[in-house]
Amino acid sequence: MAKLLEGKPLAEIIKEKTKQEVSLLKKKPVLASIQVGENAGAEAYVKSQKKTAESLGINYQFHKLSQDSSEVTLIDFIQKLNSDKSVNGIIIQMPLPSQIDYKKISQFISPDKDVEGIHPANIGKIVFAKAKILPCTPAAVMELLKETGVDLYGKEVVVVGHSEIVGKPLSLLLLDRFATVTVCHIGTSKAGKLEEHVKKAEVLIVAVGKAGVIKGEWIKEGAIVIDVGINRVGDKIVGDVEFVEAEKRASYITPVPGGIGPLTVTMLIRNLVEAAKLQQ
Ligand code: NDP
Repeated sequence: MAKLLEGKPLAEIIKEKTKQEVSLLKKKPVLASIQVGENAGAEAYVKSQKKTAESLGINYQFHKLSQDSSEVTLIDFIQKLNSDKSVNGIIIQMPLPSQIDYKKISQFISPDKDVEGIHPANIGKIVFAKAKILPCTPAAVMELLKETGVDLYGKEVVVVGHSEIVGKPLSLLLLDRFATVTVCHIGTSKAGKLEEHVKKAEVLIVAVGKAGVIKGEWIKEGAIVIDVGINRVGDKIVGDVEFVEAEKRASYITPVPGGIGPLTVTMLIRNLVEAAKLQQ
């Protein structure tokens, strides 16, 4: 039976270190958060960010723009925050209304204040192993992998999902540790080859957003399984991997909820503190 890789205990340790770093800064760091329009999901996320930030001595500045705001309005607002020296980091809450293209907008955040690590300049630095600010979810995955004590050198690592914020940057971070990385995506599934790849994985990381896309019986004996997916099924939140069967085969597995989730906000705050230090 697999050991559970829980995010909360590790998040608490990282938060404690972050709190000490905050206390060494000359000024209280400021995180500016922008929400456009109404959304219950975004509001819950804002609440959790605010609570974590404030508990660590960070000033959480919340800005709400109206639902009908244009891209230009949002870009102007971001640029005001970019030039405001008192603001150390900027985060845009998702989802955005349909008239706003997130990929376009995120490029207007100054790379120095991009605490989500999604600006092309920050993503590009990952290729050269020079990134100081990593995208939050890939950073959370790397932290949890460290907890298992696994040496990734030469390991067969399979990443399922190739999004710009999770799968792609994560595969680069894993390559940097000399893992043999296979990245699977919709093309792999359509070609009927997902099972074949997953079965080889000594470390499996799944970030798709489809409950049960990875069958429990595909998991290699002793594999480490990190499930990033978050799916609502009835009144339950589940991951992308069939947990009950996977747990019998894996050596370590993340629960959903309670695995990567609690670490992601912690990584955001850690990025903010890193950004504040670099700006000072
Ligand atoms: P995206 O929708 O951007 O990406 C999903 C990826 O999965 C795409 O690369 C897609 O390929 C691929 N995919 C879709 N269907 C299949 C399939 N049948 N087989 C193989 N690959 C497939 O999602 P994100 O990367 O943003 O997020 C992924 C999941 O992780 C979501 O459930 C999200 O909620 C969760 N998440 C959790 C976080 C946390 O803190 N715990 C943080 C961020 C995300 P293609 O694009 O080619 O269709």
